[in-house]
Amino acid sequence: MPNLSNTAPNVCMFACLSDNYGYLVHHAASNSTICIDSPDPSKILEKANSLGWTITHILNTHWHADHAGGNEKIQKETGCRILGPKEVNSRLNAPLDETLSGGETLEFGDLQIQVLATPGHTLEHISYYIPSHNIAFVGDTLFALGCGRMFEGQPEMFWNSLKTIRALPDETQIYCAHEYTLANLEFALSIDPENTDLRNYGTKLKELRAADKPTIPTNLGMEKLTNPFLRADNPVFANFLGMNRYASENVFAHIRKMKDNF
Ligand SMILES: [Zn+2]
Repeated sequence: MPNLSNTAPNVCMFACLSDNYGYLVHHAASNSTICIDSPDPSKILEKANSLGWTITHILNTHWHADHAGGNEKIQKETGCRILGPKEVNSRLNAPLDETLSGGETLEFGDLQIQVLATPGHTLEHISYYIPSHNIAFVGDTLFALGCGRMFEGQPEMFWNSLKTIRALPDETQIYCAHEYTLANLEFALSIDPENTDLRNYGTKLKELRAADKPTIPTNLGMEKLTNPFLRADNPVFANFLGMNRYASENVFAHIRKMKDNF
């Protein structure tokens, strides 16, 4: 008997809008094509067509228009089913067939996708994790060397979401929704200048961008060593900021605010 849980999903990633990434996940065994968010519906539909894939599902991470604004157009063209947090409908008035809030496991044939609650950028933000293939789609919660802006949540909430992602295995490939990496690198180096892993990783990232290549996906193990927002409980930051008596979520909040003004 073949081990059906090994039927690998095929991830197609492409740049769209000004700095978003679009994602199509094709799982041949279940004849599913899952679109992660809907930033640029025309480009997403064109991409799916060129690959011979028919979009069967959209999985939204949060309600922002560059993530859920294309739901209606893609559904009209394909009849796909749309799943996401209820804010997609309540805040953006975009169509949604099924509400998710984290803790669910979605099944596409033998492919399982876990839904993780990762609020903070928005109050109902969720992420999608495929444990069998070490893949996570994290929307605007985590970026390479950065994290999303804290538009709606509170520091403790956002910090807990980052710890949820940090608890995944080092091998996890992180697919985030934007190419913000070089700006994040400059900020990370400004508050963690002695970090050799960060400096070495930064050299590699600059080479990728100079060759017009994406820095995504990023490896979670590397992010754990270099991303200041995943390391807010590392004493190096409390020392650097003179915040030794503060809780980790307060150090996180302080770093987040510094980045907002960087
Ligand atoms: Zn957003």
